[in-house]
Amino acid sequence: MNLNNLYREVIMDNYKNPKNKGLKNASPYHLVHLTNPSCGDDMRVEILVENDKVVDVRQDGHGCSICLSSASVMSDLLIGKSVAEAKELIESFYTMVKGEEVLDEDKLGEAVAYKGVRDFPARIKCATLAWKCVERAIDEVKSNE
Ligand code: ZN
Repeated sequence: MNLNNLYREVIMDNYKNPKNKGLKNASPYHLVHLTNPSCGDDMRVEILVENDKVVDVRQDGHGCSICLSSASVMSDLLIGKSVAEAKELIESFYTMVKGEEVLDEDKLGEAVAYKGVRDFPARIKCATLAWKCVERAIDEVKSNE
């Protein structure tokens, strides 16, 4: 199996069996809703931050397989991370999909499956939508403290 097939498998698996799907719609979860009109992706991400740690991430939305699977991978990666680590991982993910070098790519785990998106600029917004949601959610939670 080549790397591209492995990556495709990660994407399809997270699309068919999404992790952390379904919102709590309750305090103290913090919700951010963003859309990607160019593709029709619509994503909602909720986070629970306690003591500078991302305790939980929930995601729900509709759209293409890249967007929805990426939300699943993102939620799985960020749960349990400190806010600082989460922000670093989000930045690394943006850097990777832009096609730039990421120093510690291993830390991205299954999210490296989206590396190929750099060859499809129109899909970068699909891959990053859920990450933009969680990034904004973290910023809003921190600025409310
Ligand atoms: Zn999309």
